[in-house]
Amino acid sequence: MSIRTNLSQLLERIPGHVRLVAVSKTKSAGEILEAYEAGQRIFGENKVQELINKQPDLPHDIQWHYVGHLQTNKVKFLAPFIDLIHAVDSLKLLREIDKQARKNNRVIDCLLQFHIAREETKYGLSLEEARELLTSELYSALTHVRIVGVMGMATFTEDDALVRSEFQTLRHYFETIKSTYFSDAPYFREISMGMSGDFQTAIEEGSTLVRIGTLLFGERDK
Ligand SMILES: *Cc1c(COP(=O)(O)O)cnc(C)c1O
Repeated sequence: MSIRTNLSQLLERIPGHVRLVAVSKTKSAGEILEAYEAGQRIFGENKVQELINKQPDLPHDIQWHYVGHLQTNKVKFLAPFIDLIHAVDSLKLLREIDKQARKNNRVIDCLLQFHIAREETKYGLSLEEARELLTSELYSALTHVRIVGVMGMATFTEDDALVRSEFQTLRHYFETIKSTYFSDAPYFREISMGMSGDFQTAIEEGSTLVRIGTLLFGERDK
């Protein structure tokens, strides 16, 4: 199946209020261009080096999202162009994004990543840690970052009930944080959840950004 066909079939399954992040990690510039020419504009990567290798040669109206775990010392490479950073899970990282955004005269949009999965290894904040971050003085002093929502990854499992309950948890965190800290902020509206295996459940539970690689580009080489 061509990327163009995959994209149009995928878009039929995604309602208009949900945006598709085409996760293009390990995929070539040519494959990204194929999706671009079929109309896709938002692409997601999870390795800094790979992204900064690809970005200069691809159309400049692509909106690049960073979906992986981001190390503080690599923020400077993304700050000139990144459109949205999905996985902010510490004040330290947020402060570095603020610093680098300021150097580039930009405000960078970010999502707070929450730990919702059963797996121990996945990154992310608890609700309590997010509260601490959002009420800290250091956070309130930041001027060049804007938190526009939340992100999470469900457990990698066939158990749809478990996945659904994890997405419900994330949705609940979103509502709690919105009503407590962002009630006057219409831009706080994103829930990034759902991948190839679980995006339909995620959409049913309120996702606004689905991050899909395999269903669009095919299996990745290991
Ligand atoms: C790779 C990746 C995806 C896409 O996964 P697929 O199963 O290929 O759709 C989504 N989110 C993150 C954070 C990823 O690293």
